[in-house]
Amino acid sequence: MSTNTATPRRLRWRSLVLLALLLAPLLWPVHFLAERYYREVLIEQNRQTLDLYVANLLGTLRRYEVLPQILGDLPGLRAALHAPEDPTALDNANRLLARVKSQTGADVIYLMNPRGVTLAASNWDKPDSFVAGNFAFRPYFREALAGRLGRFFGLGTTSGKRGYYFAYPVREDDHNIGALVVKVDLDHTETLWGNTPEQLLVTDTNGVVILTSRPDWRFHASRPLDRVEQSAIAANQPYPTQAPPLLDIDPNAWLTQSRSLEETGWTVSILAPRILLDRPVRSAVAVGAAALLALLLLLGLLILRRRHYLERIALDARAKAELEQRVTERTQDLELLNSRLKQEVLEREQAQQELVRAQDELVQAGKLSALGTMSASISHELNQPLGAIRSYAENASTLLDHQRSDDARANLKLISELTERMASIITHLRAFARRDRHAPERVALQPALDDALALLAKRRRAMDVELIRDLPDATLWVQAGETRLRQVLGNLLGNALDALIDKAPPRRIWISIEHQAEHLHLLLRDNGPGFSPESLARAREPFFTTKTSAQGLGLGLAICDSLVRALDGELLLANHPSGGALITLRLRLATPGVNLQPSEDPSP
Ligand code: ADP
Repeated sequence: MSTNTATPRRLRWRSLVLLALLLAPLLWPVHFLAERYYREVLIEQNRQTLDLYVANLLGTLRRYEVLPQILGDLPGLRAALHAPEDPTALDNANRLLARVKSQTGADVIYLMNPRGVTLAASNWDKPDSFVAGNFAFRPYFREALAGRLGRFFGLGTTSGKRGYYFAYPVREDDHNIGALVVKVDLDHTETLWGNTPEQLLVTDTNGVVILTSRPDWRFHASRPLDRVEQSAIAANQPYPTQAPPLLDIDPNAWLTQSRSLEETGWTVSILAPRILLDRPVRSAVAVGAAALLALLLLLGLLILRRRHYLERIALDARAKAELEQRVTERTQDLELLNSRLKQEVLEREQAQQELVRAQDELVQAGKLSALGTMSASISHELNQPLGAIRSYAENASTLLDHQRSDDARANLKLISELTERMASIITHLRAFARRDRHAPERVALQPALDDALALLAKRRRAMDVELIRDLPDATLWVQAGETRLRQVLGNLLGNALDALIDKAPPRRIWISIEHQAEHLHLLLRDNGPGFSPESLARAREPFFTTKTSAQGLGLGLAICDSLVRALDGELLLANHPSGGALITLRLRLATPGVNLQPSEDPSP
């Protein structure tokens, strides 16, 4: 099984890697979009910085632009121009310029005569004083003499500091009497630029870097200089060098934004290193890749889980099928068992029926055997009245011959009585021999006992057995079958007589009753030898007998026991403490007066 699943699993991971490679180009748009976004952000930021810087630079310059024109009207300065030899006038002019310089923040303010010689300067008392210096070669002076505002960027010839110069003519009656110059220090506009990755680049009209945040770029030409520009540089000396070297900047490494200042002809540029852009773009791509990876992992996990789920379902299905198979097998077993049980029950029922039939046969056989044993006494019982009838009949005929009809009638009456008795004996015999299957019914005990005793009366008398009868006069009703009860009683009494045969007189039989809650006990006791221990234990067994075969078959008690039990009663065998057998016939009491069942049919 593991070898089966391993191959598709490897295949699946391989396909995931393949999918990852296929999805990788998706990172290019991510890269492109991220770069565009961050470039725009950077450009916007730099545009604002550039605007701020340009505004600051222009503000600085414009502050001083009009200063030379205004100062030119001051009488103190004009006086110096009118009396250039007057030390007081020059001294006043010097002090005035120094005061104005400190008030305006200009670098230097100085006054020149029309030949370009400096008459007074704000730095008259400093070692690098401009006084007496001739700056006629500077372009701003030429411009001023031409009657315009002169502008110029350049290094100070004495200070070596970068400065922006504004020059304006001092005019009187349409001609120039001198020029006033304000020099603005530009060094600090460079220091304004903080220590940022973005770099500042200000180039002048020649394209030479005059202000920059990178000292190594300073005074480098941003583009090749033409001849005119080169000669102008040589003439004006605005830079510390006559031939500014070419600026070596990799245009791909920088993101440049520029703004030109029309007033000065300068170009202010801000250069942002592309690295600034690369870092966030790389992060964005990394995030994208990570997201893609996570997505792939998730996909892998989902596939894995789905496969596990499918495997589990298959396992469940297999287990279910196995269970069903087992249930089917078990059901088949049970069905087999069930049919076997049914067969057994059927067989048992048949056996039961056989048994009942055999029992029935046994009862019948018992009856017949009893009939056989009794036949002698029965024939005697019938022969005796028959003999009597014969003699009474002969007597009656003799009496009729002698016209003694009354005596003859008496004899005939006796005959009639004797036939009645014979009929009664025959009725008992029929009842005894009949096969009886009726349900228990209400039977009067005393008449049944009387019948049984009547059948045995002759034998009892012959044996001189005393009958001690202790029964109430009121009829006792029990649940039984009339014939069956008579048969049982006859049997029990017969046994008692049998037991008394070898007993020396007095021979006695006691008959009494005991009332229980729902039962009645009929006690039959004799003063014979009683049951031996073996016969007490086995007397109910069919064919158990202690008598000779002529005397008994050993069926009596067996039949009695089964009959009594069928009547929901009991036959208890015991010996009386004073000797002899004590047999208790336990019968269920019946409600007096109501006989729900029809009495047993006396016909066979
Ligand atoms: P049978 O009378 O044909 O022997 P029974 O089933 O009636 O068969 O009796 C079985 C045995 O029980 C008798 O053989 C006898 O030994 C014993 N028995 C029955 N009744 C008495 C009795 N009243 N006294 C002593 N023994 C008895």
